[in-house]
Amino acid sequence: MHTCPVCGYAKLEFPPEDFTICPSCGTEFGYQDASTSHQVLRQKWVSKGPVWHSVVVPQPPLWNGYLQLIKAHMFSAEDIPWLKGPVKVEIGETIRPSIERGILVSSHP
Ligand SMILES: [Zn+2]
Repeated sequence: MHTCPVCGYAKLEFPPEDFTICPSCGTEFGYQDASTSHQVLRQKWVSKGPVWHSVVVPQPPLWNGYLQLIKAHMFSAEDIPWLKGPVKVEIGETIRPSIERGILVSSHP
């Protein structure tokens, strides 16, 4: 298994290259990331939800794009500059920006 460098999805069947498409963020590697950085692709994905991309690979139960990014240590305040306040995620966790550390952390209410 491989991890998507854009969204942190950890169950890529193939390495993120040679036109592998990530089911989570929809990035087509070797194509979309040839001219656009992973950081910008990540920003675009988050700005759209983030939402699960694939209609072929089912969205995992309780999947949440923000939590996926946090678990992969890919969720930074730099990447998500427009995110200022807490974000309510679907499974009852709240994400709040931690500016000092430059990352976002999740906390149980
Ligand atoms: Zn991805």
